[in-house]
Amino acid sequence: MTETKQTEALFSVWVGGAEINNYYLPREAAERVAKAWKDYGYEDATIRQEAEKLECPNHEGNFDCTPFCRLCEGEQEYTKTKKGN
Ligand SMILES: [Zn+2]
Repeated sequence: MTETKQTEALFSVWVGGAEINNYYLPREAAERVAKAWKDYGYEDATIRQEAEKLECPNHEGNFDCTPFCRLCEGEQEYTKTKKGN
């Protein structure tokens, strides 16, 4: 069995042109939220991928990041946003 580390895509829920979540959600959670808004009558509720979680490039080999890593703060992975700003 080969282990492939997949990057985790993170989503926002958009309703009426506004992002309604305060932090990014995994696809399943985002779809659940969007469906709830649709059920509530907001037909244009949609999800959009905003970011993805990537393995921190600062820890290579057996060397794990410490809380002092400015990219992942010891989490070993960090969130990369797709927004240009
Ligand atoms: Zn790191």
